[in-house]
Amino acid sequence: MSDGKQINGTCLCGAVSVTATPEKHEVGACHCNMCRKWGGGPFMEIDCGSGASFTGEDNISLFSSSDWAERGFCKSCGTHLFYRLKETGQTMVPVGLFESQDGLNFTGQVFIDEKPEFYAFANKTEDFTGAEIFAMFGKSE
Ligand SMILES: [Zn+2]
Ligand SMILES: [Zn+2]
Repeated sequence: MSDGKQINGTCLCGAVSVTATPEKHEVGACHCNMCRKWGGGPFMEIDCGSGASFTGEDNISLFSSSDWAERGFCKSCGTHLFYRLKETGQTMVPVGLFESQDGLNFTGQVFIDEKPEFYAFANKTEDFTGAEIFAMFGKSE
C-alpha cells in the first residue's frame, strides 16, 4: 500500500461504506477515557484528513462527544465510523473498517497518560500526553 492510495471500508452490516485517501498509511492509537468508554479499549485509527467520504449517510448517527469533536456510528450494527473535529472536518476512521490491513505502520499514541496499567503496546511509537495534544491544537483543557 503506497501513500496517496485510496482505501475502502465498510461497517459490520455493510449499510455504511467509507472511501478515503489518507496522506500517510499510518495508524494512531488514542487511550483517552472517552475513546476507551466509546469502544471498550484504545481507539486505533487512520487520519483521513478532511477527505473521508461516506455512503449510506441515512444509517449514520452522530454523537457530539465534546465542544470540538463528534463521533459517528452505524445505526444498524453500531460499528464506530469516525471521530471528527468539528472545526476542520479532520476525520479519524477506525483502522478495522478498511478491507486491507496491509502496509500500515503503527506510529503514534496519544493520551498516553490516560492509558490504564493493564496493557501496553510493544510497538515503538511516538507518544504524547493529553496536555501535549491540547497544546498542539490550542485547547486549554
Ligand atoms: Zn452497519
Ligand atoms: Zn481519545
